Amino acid sequence: MSQSQETLSNLLQETRRFAPPAELAESANVKAEAYDEASEDRLGFWARQADRLTWSKRWDEVLDWSNPPFAKWFVGGELNVAYNCVDRHVEAGRGAKIAFHWEGEPGDTRTLTYADLQREVGKAANALLELGIRKGDRVAIYLPMIPELPISMLACARIGATHSVVFGGFSADALRTRIDDAQAKLVITADGGYRRGKPSALKPTVDEAVAQTPTVENVLVVRRTGEEVAENERDVWWQDVVERQSEEHTAEPMDSEHPLYILYTSGTTGKPKGILHTTGGYLTQIAYTHHAVFDLKPEKDVYWCSADIGWVTGHSYIVYGPLANGATSVMYEGTPDTPHQGRWWELIQKYKVSIFYTAPTAIRTFMKWGDDIPARFDLSSLRVLGSVGEPINPEAYVWYREHIGGGKAPVVDTWWQTETGGIMISPLPGVTAGKPGAAMRPLPGIVADVVDDQGNAVPDGGGGFLVVKEPWPSMLRTIWGDDERYVKTYWSRFDGLYFAGDGAKKDDDGDLWLLGRVDDVMLVSGHNISTTEVESALVSHPKVAEAAVVGATDPLTGQAIVAFVIPRGSAGDVEGADFLKELRDHVARTLGPIAKPRQIMIVPELPKTRSGKIMRRLLRDVAENRSIGDVTTLADSTVMDLISEKLPSAK
Ligand code: ATP
Ligand code: MG
Repeated sequence: MSQSQETLSNLLQETRRFAPPAELAESANVKAEAYDEASEDRLGFWARQADRLTWSKRWDEVLDWSNPPFAKWFVGGELNVAYNCVDRHVEAGRGAKIAFHWEGEPGDTRTLTYADLQREVGKAANALLELGIRKGDRVAIYLPMIPELPISMLACARIGATHSVVFGGFSADALRTRIDDAQAKLVITADGGYRRGKPSALKPTVDEAVAQTPTVENVLVVRRTGEEVAENERDVWWQDVVERQSEEHTAEPMDSEHPLYILYTSGTTGKPKGILHTTGGYLTQIAYTHHAVFDLKPEKDVYWCSADIGWVTGHSYIVYGPLANGATSVMYEGTPDTPHQGRWWELIQKYKVSIFYTAPTAIRTFMKWGDDIPARFDLSSLRVLGSVGEPINPEAYVWYREHIGGGKAPVVDTWWQTETGGIMISPLPGVTAGKPGAAMRPLPGIVADVVDDQGNAVPDGGGGFLVVKEPWPSMLRTIWGDDERYVKTYWSRFDGLYFAGDGAKKDDDGDLWLLGRVDDVMLVSGHNISTTEVESALVSHPKVAEAAVVGATDPLTGQAIVAFVIPRGSAGDVEGADFLKELRDHVARTLGPIAKPRQIMIVPELPKTRSGKIMRRLLRDVAENRSIGDVTTLADSTVMDLISEKLPSAK
């Protein structure tokens, strides 16, 4: 964002409001009073939330902020994360309750109760010890979405090893750099997993990666697909080593600040950062937010988060939050269109899922595939819907609410990051009258705001930079091995404020709207315009499925808006000049003439990270006629070729 510009222009007018259903409001886990309770005594509020957990030793001090920006939460307290996620539920007589309804892509299933999980985690913990893993060691986990993934994470937590889960879609090179950065002693992997109807190998990638990683002593391999794999000296099979272990293992209490995991960011904007999360504060905020934002009633609800555990959403809201709260969850291995495009809805129908959490990229894909697909399934069990990962376009929000939520389930748009560990800004489903496209307000106990380039809060109606003003329990503690980069990246832009890197606006009611990354904001004729708003205007056209917008250098206006558009399947003729004019006029009508794109290009695909986020910097390269930058975190590197082919001017 330009230094001279203080605010982002507020262009989008959205007047639709959706009040919570009366019944939900009545019985909600968290009601409006929570905001006041937390603002009167923030640390007291978090201490009460920490009491959701079972501590082996109580803390002496809630927050130590004497050496900012290095926070310590629940100082002196001790607890074990795996004990909190598993054993205590069994001890409380809930061992027969289902923790995971797991479903493999080919249709095979596994049901794991909390008692099953306790036995499996106990065996895995004993196996890690046998393999020489000790408290403080790092373990890299590179697994498909199979039960051994959460089991491995919990086994690490149980013995105090710090896990680093690497998404199974990453290359050998990406895996190797993450193993090296964390100096991992062990890699846990599988022969492969199922994706798009066939086995997809993982082991060869690990073999290639660990050929050059001196710290790795063993590779522990789960047999999932049964495909043949090369066997190396360091390899051991899960089925040999884990299965013969004792199920008994006593979880060891850890210091509240013990490192629980390292997780690398998605790499949307550049080189991934190894984000470090610790124990007590992390689990406190994750358990609370999962209870509050999804209104989880563990006795009744069936919860499903469709993310991959390789991302922070899966860490916090498939593994740690739901298990700490004793939830019953669905976990699914494969892709949403295998064997057919209704697979997710079929799973919701089958398990009577009541709370569903997914990403805007998935919602836009379903819109593209057509309304008739979800309409074939009984989705009436759904009562709360969540969104995370990118700003949700108002049209996508309304579609989600209507076609998935039966026109009644509230949509909670949750803003947070790998760095924040847990949800920070979100509606509360029983309290908030939702606005399509708005993340609304910081949760109770979170102090966030929008500031101008001097760090002063903008008034209602203004826009600028999203910041967090007070430390929060699940905040990152540092970038692994690089305190200096931690301070520089997040705490140097504004004195004493956490700089999130996202642009946002406050509407006239003071509610927050996320406007995309600060790096993506465009400066057109002296106005800062958000890519998100222009994209949402394009997506609100009935013939548009997805859109990505960038600012390209322009001699007249400083930057000019260039849009890349994927038409809906049913859109008909979309190549002609008439259609492009229709879209440009539509944006001008929706947002005003200032936001009219200079150029619109029809493309078959958009470049996305493996977690499904649009990578605008690559499109900026195209729009500015440059050779295309680093594509290593791209999900499908051929997409850029597809786009370049369509454009006569692009290199
Ligand atoms: P990198 O930091 O390496 O570029 P990344 O930011 O994509 O990668 P994540 O931590 O997975 O990695 O994503 C967090 C970012 O996702 C946020 O900073 C924000 O830009 C975006 N985001 C997540 N949820 C929302 C939301 N509900 N509304 C708007 N943006 C969101
Ligand atoms: Mg980021």
